[in-house]
Amino acid sequence: MAAQMIRTAEEGASVLKRGGLLAIPTETVYGLAANAFDEAAVARIFKAKGRPTYDPLILHIADVAALKQLVRNVYPEARMLAEEFWPGPLTLVLPKKEIVPDLVTAGLDTVAIRMPDHPLTLELLGKIDFPLAAPSANPFGYVSPTSAAHVAQQLGGRIDAILDGGTTRVGLESTIIGFPGGRPTLYRYGGLESERIESLIGSLDYVASSSSDPLAPGMLEKHYSPSKKVLLGDPAALAAQLEAPFAILSFRSGFETAAALEVFTLSARGDLHEAAHRLFMGLRRLDALPVEYILAELLPEEGLGRAINDRLRRAAAR
Ligand code: AMP
Ligand code: MG
Repeated sequence: MAAQMIRTAEEGASVLKRGGLLAIPTETVYGLAANAFDEAAVARIFKAKGRPTYDPLILHIADVAALKQLVRNVYPEARMLAEEFWPGPLTLVLPKKEIVPDLVTAGLDTVAIRMPDHPLTLELLGKIDFPLAAPSANPFGYVSPTSAAHVAQQLGGRIDAILDGGTTRVGLESTIIGFPGGRPTLYRYGGLESERIESLIGSLDYVASSSSDPLAPGMLEKHYSPSKKVLLGDPAALAAQLEAPFAILSFRSGFETAAALEVFTLSARGDLHEAAHRLFMGLRRLDALPVEYILAELLPEEGLGRAINDRLRRAAAR
C-alpha cells in the first residue's frame, strides 16, 4: 500500500503512537521516523531503508531539556553548542543511558541526538512523549530526499505515511560532533558550518572524513550516491575525454558550450547556501536523465562548501 500523504502534526503523532513509520520534514533532509523506544518500530526503519544494522540512527528531540533522559554526560562544549545552535542542523554524539535501545545506536555506548528546525516536526515532537529515531528517508546509500515527493518515489510502498512539510531549507544532512576522550571532534561535515562551531568552542579534532570501516558509522566512503557514475574535476576537461552521454553539475554557470545533455547549476551567484539547498535535487534530476556520467566540479573548501564537497566525493567513490 502506498504511504499516506499527510499535512498535520496531529495525524503524524497518531501514526507514530501506534508504532508506525512516518517520513518527517526537517531543515536538513527528510527523515524516516519511528518511536525510538519501540524496538519493533525501529527495526522497521532498517528494513524499509535496506540499512545495515551497524549504521546507527539519530534521535530527534523537542528541546535541550530532553537530553537528560537519554545521555549520561553532557560535556560543557556540547551544552554550549546545543544552546547556541538548536534547533538546527547539528547532531551531538554523547554517552547513552540504558533507556536508549542498542538497535538505535548499533551497539555503541554513545547516541547521536539533535533538535530539528522545522515548525511541523517541532509541533509533532510536542505531541509525543518519546524521542524519534530517524535516519534520512532514502534507500541506504542513495542521495537523501529534500522533498516529500522524493520520499514517496523511493520509499512510498514501504512506510505508513509522509508528513509533507515542503522542500527542506538547508538541503544537507546535519553536521555531527562527537566527544571521544572528551575532545570535541567533527565526525561529518553538514548543514552547520564548522567555522561557526569553532568560533563558539575553539578548534575541533577531525576524524578521517571517509572510511570503509563500519565502526566509523555514516562515514562510509561510498554513500549519498546516484546510480550514474559521478566524475569529479573540471567538467570541460572531463567532457573532452568522454564518448558516452553525460550531464554536468556545476557550481556557477559556465558550461553551456559543453555537449552535455543538461547543465544543472547549483548557484549562479555563487552562494553556498543556495548550492547546498539545490545539491540533492540536482543530483536526482541528472541521475534520471539517459546519461552514463554526471560530471561535477568541487566547490571552494569553506563553509558549506566543505559539506557539499564531502557528499560529492562520496557520490564519486567506487
Ligand atoms: P543519517 O541520519 O542517515 O544521516 O545517518 C545517521 C548518521 O549519524 C550515521 O550514519 C552516523 O554517521 C551518525 N551516528 C549516529 N549515531 C552515532 C554514534 N553513536 N557515533 C557516531 N556516529 C553516529
Ligand atoms: Mg542517510
